[in-house]
Amino acid sequence: MQAKMILGAGALALLTAAAPPEEAAITFRPVSENGAVAAIDVTMTLEIDGALKLDAPIVYPGAPGTADRMRNITVTDKEGAVPLTISEDPPVPGGFPYFRHWQANRPVSGPVRVTWRALVTAPGGAGGPAFGIRAVDRGVVGAGSTLLLLPDRPSIATTRVHWDLSGLPSGSIAAMSHGDGDLVLSGPPSQLTQSWFMAGPLGRFPAAGQSDGFSAYWLGTPTFDAPAEMAWTARAHSYLAQHFPHLKPTQPYRVFLQFREQPPFGGATALHQSFMLARGPLREGEERAAPRLTLFHEMIHMWVGGIEAPVGVSSWFSEGLTTYYQNLLPMKGGFISLDDYGREINELAESYYTNKARNWSAEAITKVGFTDEEIRHLPYRRSALYFADLDARIRAASKGKRDLETLLFPMFLARERGETFDQARWIAMVTAELGPQEKARFQRLILDGADTIEPRSDAFGPCFRREAATFTRDGKAVAGYRWVRAAGVADERCIER
Ligand SMILES: [Zn+2]
Repeated sequence: MQAKMILGAGALALLTAAAPPEEAAITFRPVSENGAVAAIDVTMTLEIDGALKLDAPIVYPGAPGTADRMRNITVTDKEGAVPLTISEDPPVPGGFPYFRHWQANRPVSGPVRVTWRALVTAPGGAGGPAFGIRAVDRGVVGAGSTLLLLPDRPSIATTRVHWDLSGLPSGSIAAMSHGDGDLVLSGPPSQLTQSWFMAGPLGRFPAAGQSDGFSAYWLGTPTFDAPAEMAWTARAHSYLAQHFPHLKPTQPYRVFLQFREQPPFGGATALHQSFMLARGPLREGEERAAPRLTLFHEMIHMWVGGIEAPVGVSSWFSEGLTTYYQNLLPMKGGFISLDDYGREINELAESYYTNKARNWSAEAITKVGFTDEEIRHLPYRRSALYFADLDARIRAASKGKRDLETLLFPMFLARERGETFDQARWIAMVTAELGPQEKARFQRLILDGADTIEPRSDAFGPCFRREAATFTRDGKAVAGYRWVRAAGVADERCIER
């Protein structure tokens, strides 16, 4: 999955000529008890004057109780303690974020010192994205979104991050999505909501520095050969960087892996130029294998990006297109075999046709949110089939001259230039390509969900053809389709997709 929905990345600093530049300096100090991290003590010094409001999520996906775990909050400035008034947003259903606010009762004058202790999440509790702070092995992992009490201050021009690792085993290191160890970032601290963090006795690939802009970090006992699999993932990252036309030159990319001893297990989520994979120990008889297509999926998110649409509903694009690509690009790049590709597209088709939310609207699925993984993943599958079918229909209509990427690539570049990419623009793109009926088609298949997708026989390229299939769900037969290898088509033609 991808989480780009919350508190947008760094807003531009708005500086007036007279005022000195506003700055934030943050120190993170993990605190260990009995060999495990119990909390992170945070000190944030703000060089600001005027109003001050601090925000933290009451609920964040996979991390309910975030604000409650922020203890001993103090705010002081030159005049002493700053009294605070606390308020809360109304609850949002589905596990999506809502916030608590601490408003200073008087204007502050910098330096303003804000301190708090962010407790690690107790073992157990909610699954889902691994945003919450967790103790793993002798280190600590989480996301900036659940660690920080954020000043509502887009005008902060510089944010400095310092890691005090004195409470961790010797040899410990720290890394965030935004960089290794101590950092200086342009813009306010709020951009760290898009940052994973990991501190402790981390494993690392490569052992130092980066491999073609790629590096990986892990904590706990890997359930696969982490250095070898991360070398593979680095090659996959280079392939993706070459495939897509935008995000050039390629910026550093970081992969974080946490291997937990205690549940909840599972979850992989992309943030700023990075993703986090969380999993538990090997189960009895389980092969020591990396979830390679999940690794691909999370990296693809960066290039697919997002669409401007209501929270949750937007996943038809971000997750659907990423899921479409997560099978296609590993096959085209030679990272998986044709047999693997065939198996993946059939798993995709079956998981769509048998999904209990198959004909739900995008909005109804959003209301369920993070509380039901089968329902939450329906838009991933539905849109992946929509994109595969769309690709085949564009190829057929243009007699092979155009395809889905003829449509997507200029949009990726335009979005990067700052142009709006929203559902109206998507509809304009597909109707210009295939005709006015595409608007109603998109509405019925993707937003209303009332119609069931029946992709063309050649939706997965010339090497596969469609067959009617009967699946089973809760003991009941469900009609759908599967794709079988077409006889007499050479393997080389398959990668033309
Ligand atoms: Zn995803």
